[in-house]
Amino acid sequence: MNVHPSKLPLADLRSARLDGAECLFDPELHDGPDPLTTIEHPDARAAREDVARDVCASCPVRVCCREYAVHARPKAGIWAGLTGLEIDALNRPGRRELDEVA
Ligand code: SF4
Repeated sequence: MNVHPSKLPLADLRSARLDGAECLFDPELHDGPDPLTTIEHPDARAAREDVARDVCASCPVRVCCREYAVHARPKAGIWAGLTGLEIDALNRPGRRELDEVA
């Protein structure tokens, strides 16, 4: 499963322990517009991702979401306040343990 929490049916969110996900209220905020129909300007994307990070910061299931994202390794979207590249960085050897200590 590599689907953003905002796109999962509520039943799947519960099974993924993501019940209460804040991104359910505005799915496009975290995943962006459909790239097949919309070209998002880089500045607009950066602004959208900043707002998504703010939403994640107060999300009650952020820790579970982050764990899920670290294992799922999504390439797009904002997950627990992180981009796919930032999540990849967490998966580098030794990095995750350091991050959890900090
Ligand atoms: S932490 Fe962010 S991406 Fe994860 S479930 Fe919450 S709002 Fe959605």
